[in-house]
Amino acid sequence: MKAVVKTERGEGHVELRDVPTPELRPGWVVLDVRATGICGTDVHILHDEHPYWPPVVLGHEFTGRISRLGEGVDGWEVGTRVVCEPHQGSCNVCHLCRRGLHQLCASKRSPGWGIDGAMAPQVTMPAHLLHRVPDEVSDVAAAACEPTAIAVSAVERCRVEPGDTVLVFGPGPIGLLSAMVARACGAGEVVVVGRASSARRLEAARGLGLTVWDSGDVDVPTAAKELTRGRGVDLVLETSGSAQAIAQAVDSLRRRGRLCAIGVSGRPTLEVPWDRAMFAALDVSFSFSSSFTSWDAALQLMRSGGVQIEPLVTSFPLARWADAFRAVEERAVVKALLVPDGTADARAVES
Ligand SMILES: [Zn+2]
Ligand SMILES: [Zn+2]
Repeated sequence: MKAVVKTERGEGHVELRDVPTPELRPGWVVLDVRATGICGTDVHILHDEHPYWPPVVLGHEFTGRISRLGEGVDGWEVGTRVVCEPHQGSCNVCHLCRRGLHQLCASKRSPGWGIDGAMAPQVTMPAHLLHRVPDEVSDVAAAACEPTAIAVSAVERCRVEPGDTVLVFGPGPIGLLSAMVARACGAGEVVVVGRASSARRLEAARGLGLTVWDSGDVDVPTAAKELTRGRGVDLVLETSGSAQAIAQAVDSLRRRGRLCAIGVSGRPTLEVPWDRAMFAALDVSFSFSSSFTSWDAALQLMRSGGVQIEPLVTSFPLARWADAFRAVEERAVVKALLVPDGTADARAVES
C-alpha cells in the first residue's frame, strides 16, 4: 500500500512510498483508514523539529473502520467506526500510568512518529485504545477527535464555570476547538484573539459564531477589562505559545483567574510577567496530550453539535499530501485531512 513515510532523519525526507500492509498482533486491530488529519506536529516532523523513529508512516489524528481483529480482541466487530487514542506503548506500571495518566508515560510511542501511523490506507493499533464513533458523527469530524480531545483535556484541567468569560489566544485548529469546547461547557462569552495574518482562521472563528479580536487592532487587556466591567476575564486558554500573548493573558485575567497553557512556544525559555501573575494570584496550569475521558467527551460534543468540525476542514487525496502540508504551513486552510480512497463523507476534495 502507498503511505506517507518519513524515510530518514533530517529536513524533508517525506515521500509517498510502498509499504507492507500492517501485520495483525494479538490484542490489536487493523483499521481501514477513512480520513487522517494533518497536525502541526506532522509539519514539525517534516522539518526535523520533533522526535521520530524513521522510517515511519506519519499520521496520529485519524478515523477508520475495523477490518481485522487480532487474537483475543473482545467487544469489537469488523466494520465498526472507531477513533484511537495515540497512547500506544504506555507501560502500565509507572507512577503516571497507575494514576491513569497514560498520555504522559515516558514509554509511550505514538502512531505517526513512534510507530507507523495513518497516512495510509490501513493502520494497526491496540484495541484498548479504541473509541466507538457515534452514527451522527461524520468521518471528517471523527478524524479531528484527537485535537478535540486535546481541547477537552485542557478544559478538564482548568474547568469552565457557568457564565465564564473566556479568552482563547491563537485561532489555529486547537484554538478554535478549545473555544467551541469552552462554549459548549457553559462559558458566557468566548473571544478568540488572533492576528490578521491568520485571516482565514479568524474568518472561520466568526463563521462559528465566536467573537474575534484582531490583536493588531485591539489592545487586548483593555478590551478584556471593558468586556468585564473592569474585573478581568475568568479563564484564558493559551494556544499560541507566544510570549506576547502570555503577557496579554496575564493582564487580561481577573484576580484568581485561570490561565491554561496548551500552545508550545518552540523556544527554550520565554519571558513572562511572573510578578503580575503572582499578585493576581492566578491559577496557571499546563495541559499536554489527551486524557482517556476526553475522547468520549469529544465525540459527544461532536454528536450534539457543540463542536462543529466540518466548517474547518479541507480534504485532500492522500497522493496530494505535499499540497496539503503546504496549505497547512501557509495557513491557507484551517484543518487539512488526507483521504486514502476519496470517500470521506462531508467536504468534496479540493481540486
Ligand atoms: Zn496532533
Ligand atoms: Zn507508564
